[in-house]
Amino acid sequence: MHILVTNDDGIFAPGIRALSAALSHLGEVTIVAPDRERSATGHAITVHSPLRVKHITGLPASAAYAVNGTPADCVKLALEGLKIEKPDLVVSGVNRGANLGTDVLYSGTVSAAIEAALLGLPAIAVSLADFRETDYEGAADFAAQIAGRWRNRCLPPDTLLNVNWPREKARGVKITFLGQRKYENKFDLRTDPWGREYYWLGGAVVNDETPESDVWAIENGYASVTPIHFDLTNYRLMAEVESWKIDLA
Ligand code: MN
Repeated sequence: MHILVTNDDGIFAPGIRALSAALSHLGEVTIVAPDRERSATGHAITVHSPLRVKHITGLPASAAYAVNGTPADCVKLALEGLKIEKPDLVVSGVNRGANLGTDVLYSGTVSAAIEAALLGLPAIAVSLADFRETDYEGAADFAAQIAGRWRNRCLPPDTLLNVNWPREKARGVKITFLGQRKYENKFDLRTDPWGREYYWLGGAVVNDETPESDVWAIENGYASVTPIHFDLTNYRLMAEVESWKIDLA
C-alpha cells in the first residue's frame, strides 16, 4: 500500500510527523506538503507563480517533498507532476485544531483531501480538536485504523472522510453529519505605526448543539467521522428554481 500524506500546517508540523509514523505501519508513505503553514487557505491553487519542490530528510517517510504552494497544490503536484508511484490513499493532517461543520469550506487540510477525491483517490482528512496539541498520536493512530479498514471497501469516487479527534481520550466513535460552526466575528480595527488603519479578524465560536452532528460529537468527547462529498447542488430545489421561469430576457 502506498499512502500520500499532506497537511496545511506545513511539512515540519508535529501532526504530519505523527500521522506519517502511524501510517508507515500500513505501507510506504510519501509526504508532499507545504513548506510553511497554509491553514485556512481553503482550496486555493497556485497558477500565477512557479511551484518549487525541495527534498526533505529526517521525516518518517520513504520520501518527503516540501512545496511552496497550498495543500491542494501539493496533492495536484504529487499526483500529476512529481514522478511518484500512484498512491492507494491520501491522508491529510493531523491538523492543529478541529475542522468541523461549515469550517471545512475554509480548511486547507480538508481541501487537500477533497483534491485527492477529485482526482479519484480515497482520501481522509484528520484533525485534532485541540490547539494545545495534546494528542497527535491518538488522532494519527485512529486515522491509520480507518485507513486499514478502508481496504476492500468502496466509497463513491467523490466522497472522502473527515475525521476529528477530541481533546481528551475519546469516549467512543460517532459517524456524524456536518453541523453548523458559526463565529461571532470581530474585525478589530487597529492602527499601524504609520497611522494607517487596518482590520484583524478574530472572534469566538458559537457552537451548534444539534445532537449527533460532528460539532456535537467533539464537544461531547467522541471521535467524529463524517463522510463528505463536494457536489454542492441542492437537488431538492432544482424544481423550485425551475418554477421561477428564468429565461433569456
Ligand atoms: Mn492547519
